[in-house]
Amino acid sequence: MLKYVLKYKDLSLTVKKYSVSRCLRVIVHRDGSVTLTCHTRTSKKEIEKFIEINYLWILETVKKSVYLQPVRESFEGLDVTELKKKAALYIPKRLKELARLHNLEFKEVTIGSATTKWGSCSRDKRIRISCYVMLLEEKLIDYVLLHELCHLIHFNHSAAFHETLNQMLPEHNEKQLVKEIRKLSIPKQK
Ligand SMILES: [Zn+2]
Repeated sequence: MLKYVLKYKDLSLTVKKYSVSRCLRVIVHRDGSVTLTCHTRTSKKEIEKFIEINYLWILETVKKSVYLQPVRESFEGLDVTELKKKAALYIPKRLKELARLHNLEFKEVTIGSATTKWGSCSRDKRIRISCYVMLLEEKLIDYVLLHELCHLIHFNHSAAFHETLNQMLPEHNEKQLVKEIRKLSIPKQK
């Protein structure tokens, strides 16, 4: 098997060439990394053409690919209305502070009650934060907010995204924070 990293526009893909591969195939992994498999004789041109055709789909999938997806689990007696109120008081203010600190601008922030992700950022700079972030400790809330703010610069989870995000964190400790946040889960809504 032949393996190398291919940069294409905003994407960084691991290309794996096998003598038994029949067709070009692209896989977006849970952590946002992308692998492309193809036959040993597939040319660079063919590979790039394939990526170009699927480019938007790959980008969107990488974006959705859960970097911040919490693990769901059931939880009784949680007051979502209360969490939303708390979030509405805290999140917009804190997001503005962090944006100002890093010279970034977003259009609006809304508080949702998504149970599948902590936050999201659209291409038109609208940030959405799940009220469940209020269950996190402050530094992890900041991490979620900075992660979404970082999408104003990089609309993907590329190496460049993580590099910038890590620079934005006070202790430059993205890996550590990710470890911590991954231990937590958003409770399932009743
Ligand atoms: Zn993200």
